[in-house]
Amino acid sequence: MNSNLNHFTFQYVCSDCAKTFEIDPKLMVCPSCTLQQEKNQPLRGILEVLLTPTAGSSTTLDKLDNNDLLNFLPVEKSFFPAIPVGNTPLWKPTNLRNRLGLKNLFIKDDTCNPTASFKDRASFLVAAFATKHQLKNIVLASTGNAASSMAGIGAAAGIKVTIFLPKTAPIAKIVQSLQYGANVITVDGNYDNAYDLSLEYSSTRGGFSRNTAYNPLTIEGKKSVSLEIARDLQSAPDYVYVPTGDGVILAGVYKGFRDLYDLKLISKVPTIIAVQSEGSDAIHRAFKSGHFTEKASSTVADSICVDIPRNGFHAVKNLKKYGGQTIAVSDNDILSAQRELSSSTGLFTEPAAATAFAGLLAHKDQISKDAKVVVLVTGHGLKDTASALKIVSPPARAIKNLEELL
Ligand SMILES: *Cc1c(COP(=O)(O)O)cnc(C)c1O
Repeated sequence: MNSNLNHFTFQYVCSDCAKTFEIDPKLMVCPSCTLQQEKNQPLRGILEVLLTPTAGSSTTLDKLDNNDLLNFLPVEKSFFPAIPVGNTPLWKPTNLRNRLGLKNLFIKDDTCNPTASFKDRASFLVAAFATKHQLKNIVLASTGNAASSMAGIGAAAGIKVTIFLPKTAPIAKIVQSLQYGANVITVDGNYDNAYDLSLEYSSTRGGFSRNTAYNPLTIEGKKSVSLEIARDLQSAPDYVYVPTGDGVILAGVYKGFRDLYDLKLISKVPTIIAVQSEGSDAIHRAFKSGHFTEKASSTVADSICVDIPRNGFHAVKNLKKYGGQTIAVSDNDILSAQRELSSSTGLFTEPAAATAFAGLLAHKDQISKDAKVVVLVTGHGLKDTASALKIVSPPARAIKNLEELL
């Protein structure tokens, strides 16, 4: 074992009341703060993982390798499934750098995860935790990617996965889940209905809930992206653009940088820009107004289409505390950003993932040309070709010989 490594003890801490708890598979949200839960509002009493370094341990960014990053997660390495998750490329998109005049633009490409979305980071930790505690069944609601992710990572871990998703979820995400062998239940309703049904299912019929935000390990698993970014840059970036629906990726990105900042491994928490679709912008609205109001959501970016962002309160709290910002972009902006990203970088993303890039396009004149900027790319375009077809069309006619080409 490397003696330079940080080793930690782990607890849960309530993001509302700061009470601490021992980590326990039965504990999901803070028992006292959840009593204040109002109907149709984001979750109260979201728990985060609190790291305490054990005496004598220390590390520096340049010493962190892939294996060491797992030490920052609250399950021992031996419990993680064999499938490789994370350690995705952070790369320099030269064409885009030139086009936008941003010298230090980076793309963090999480489409390279095994099930082709960022969600694998959360599923990986949840699967390891379930294995450690001999939990054989996992239940969750999803717009599509969390489902296919948990199905795939669950398959690698030998865990049975039951998923609830809207019947309108992109077919590729349903097919993925079926291929991985999950028990797929489609809901005649939206994601918010699927969320409620999955919680009712896990509380009455059993199963470990991986619902995003509700299960504290979802935020914690997602933090690994920030550890990798800081390690690869050997510092904190200036800006990170994050596509935002429930606000759990956002929370994970913050958590990773906050952990590194608390350990004095980076000198600041980056400015994080939460980018939403105008058709599903509850966090953006609450960031401006101070409270969450209900509005039926509808957007081409299905993965960020939520009426009630489960991690809403916590997301706004982080954004306020660390000087973050929010942006809402239109579906047209999203689709044209998706196309521009593909045609200038070779990266085909789903609309939700392109939303982060649309946010950068909307915001780029407000940042310095030298700023170190990371755009988080969260899901692959092949998961939702129907949306991509809204802006490109296959050739109308097939030819037999070249003379037919006008
Ligand atoms: C889930 C998801 C998001 C948004 O994550 P939240 O935690 O809901 O904010 C963004 N992009 C993709 C591709 C996703 O699957």
